[in-house]
Amino acid sequence: MAAPDPARLSLNTATIREKWGLAQAIEGCARHGIRGIAPWRDQLAAMGVKDAVRSIKSNGLTVSGLCRGGFFTAKDWMDDNRRAIEEAHALGAQCLVLVVGGLIPGSKDLPGSRERVKEGIAAILPEARKAGVPLAIEPLHPMQAAERACVNTLEQALDICDALGEGIGVAVDVYHLWWDPKLEQQIRRAGNKRVLAYHISDWLVPTRDLLNDRGMMGDGVIELPRIRGWVEGAGYTGFHEVEIFSELNWWQRDPDEVLQICKSRFATIT
Ligand code: ZN
Repeated sequence: MAAPDPARLSLNTATIREKWGLAQAIEGCARHGIRGIAPWRDQLAAMGVKDAVRSIKSNGLTVSGLCRGGFFTAKDWMDDNRRAIEEAHALGAQCLVLVVGGLIPGSKDLPGSRERVKEGIAAILPEARKAGVPLAIEPLHPMQAAERACVNTLEQALDICDALGEGIGVAVDVYHLWWDPKLEQQIRRAGNKRVLAYHISDWLVPTRDLLNDRGMMGDGVIELPRIRGWVEGAGYTGFHEVEIFSELNWWQRDPDEVLQICKSRFATIT
């Protein structure tokens, strides 16, 4: 399999967030020839949206996604999602990533929580369409169903997309989805129209922390070239976004070293 196009590499700033703010991340990407960036909204707020837009533009970067909207089962979700759509629009983001939220607080009703998520997305979708911001549902690993996202497979996410129509798709994150026996079939079902983002990292054995011990591509057990083949086979030509939460390893390192390794692993492993 041919190596991926280096111009398709994007940095999710979570990967270096302990040492770099957004301004440094933008400059770091430019310095390393990484063409895509996916900022988080807390860092965006710290830098200021206007300054971020100016810097991203002047450094010639593309925003592969804004992290994140969602949490439809929490209080005050509506205003927060409206702001997220405005910010994604200002950045010209290719999508707004939705981490949809877990169980309704105090409830054990998983199907009801999923229904609430669908209603929440339906409520913000008209504004997202008007702003030209595609919404990307990111299914999270089922271990996070209670607290962070009750949508856990690509199939569930695509069922919501099909119910809601245009302007919505999915973020395919290998860390969350690699185990799913229906992954290939559902990526094919999604096709180019619904795959809005592709997130890469690796699953370490053993995993020491289920949230913050993701691996660098090549250090774990995910068969990355196979999944990339499925995603590209579906017609996806967008960015491959490196997203590594790693309290014990990568967050401790010099971000310039991390970006260098991301680039070389992207070229040789993924
Ligand atoms: Zn992700």
